[in-house]
Amino acid sequence: MVELKSCPFCGGEARAWVRSIPTYREELFYNGYVSCSACNAKIRSLYQHPTGPEAIGDAARSWNQRVSEGQQRLAED
Ligand SMILES: [Zn+2]
Repeated sequence: MVELKSCPFCGGEARAWVRSIPTYREELFYNGYVSCSACNAKIRSLYQHPTGPEAIGDAARSWNQRVSEGQQRLAED
């Protein structure tokens, strides 16, 4: 499991999850998400991935990067 930094806004515990996306060709793709368990902070993976773990890894990288950069803008979904 990917290690997640705490929420940049409230310091709450972050959690990662995936959502599958059906495609035309009976394949599934996944969007990864990381959200804060205490406030509404949430981001989504940059890309759709063929496996859940890849999607989570993508979202987790974005989350951790934003934490370290202290950016205030989160993806809306
Ligand atoms: Zn938070």
